Amino acid sequence: MTEEEKLGVNKFHVDENFSHIEINKEACPEDIMTLVRACPAGLYKYNDGTLTHDCAGCFECGVCRILSAGKVVSRWEFPKGGKGIEYRFG
Ligand code: SF4
Repeated sequence: MTEEEKLGVNKFHVDENFSHIEINKEACPEDIMTLVRACPAGLYKYNDGTLTHDCAGCFECGVCRILSAGKVVSRWEFPKGGKGIEYRFG
């Protein structure tokens, strides 16, 4: 089973009304690129000087929160109850 197949068995309950991660799109490119490279879900995209981030698919690992040290991630919370990732092993 490939890594993608293993991750593909997880379920995501996306909260359309609440983004549990808020980002500062004006952060310096070097700090942004740290998160682009580190996010295991590949949710940080930086193209032509524009940062985009989608909370759908987040593993809730907290790596971006720690590495950003408040520079790129301006708010990080767990999703509200019943939302977010549902890990499935097997
Ligand atoms: S918490 Fe983890 S998976 Fe979610 S955006 Fe941050 S680094 Fe990516």
